[in-house]
Amino acid sequence: MKKLLSFLVLVLFSHSAWACLACLNKQNAPFSLPQLSYTYEALVPSIDEQTMNIHHTLHHQAYITNANKALEGNEKPLEEILGNVSEHPVSVRNNAGGHWNHSFFWTVLTPDPKKQKMPKKLKKELTKTFGSVDAFQKAFEEKATTQFGSGWAWLIVTKDGKLEITSTPNQDNPLMDVVEQNGKPIFGIDVWEHAYYLQYQNKRGMYLENIWNVTNWHQVYAYLQEVQKIKK
Ligand code: MN
Repeated sequence: MKKLLSFLVLVLFSHSAWACLACLNKQNAPFSLPQLSYTYEALVPSIDEQTMNIHHTLHHQAYITNANKALEGNEKPLEEILGNVSEHPVSVRNNAGGHWNHSFFWTVLTPDPKKQKMPKKLKKELTKTFGSVDAFQKAFEEKATTQFGSGWAWLIVTKDGKLEITSTPNQDNPLMDVVEQNGKPIFGIDVWEHAYYLQYQNKRGMYLENIWNVTNWHQVYAYLQEVQKIKK
């Protein structure tokens, strides 16, 4: 019975609407751990089960616990807090940032082959900006590998509507007023060692190459469409 129930929950989630940036951005403290739309072992062999489990239940949860402490009584939307994060204590930057980043990260991964297939229109956009999808992936891997120490690599839409690859240290992200390049993320990869070390040890490059096998391109395209709609 329990198995049947969790199967039904999975089916429901995997057919639910796409995640949206507005939904991530408008949340306010106290935050709670979002449920994944797939199981911890679903991304094997690209990401191992233990990493997913620890990453979600311990790392992400810790950012939430600490963000809730740091933001007690502050009910402003997360996007507004991140946009003015320089006015907050550093624990807000690290932990509210960590909560946003991980909530976003889970949504751009998928075990579903249909969602892993890149929509033609996204292919066109990436080709227009980077020359080809391959060239985009190479440039993204390069940015992610050369991010020194812990951090994130992002594909963002800039204020003037252009696609750009950026990276941020620690739990910073492109929505924050403290980063060099602001924009709306439509794709992002965690390059903290906790995201890959159990399976890949020091081989960050190999982790990145394998991420493409579980990338939810349909979600990335949904984010792009959402950002373009806001701009219009
Ligand atoms: Mn992480």
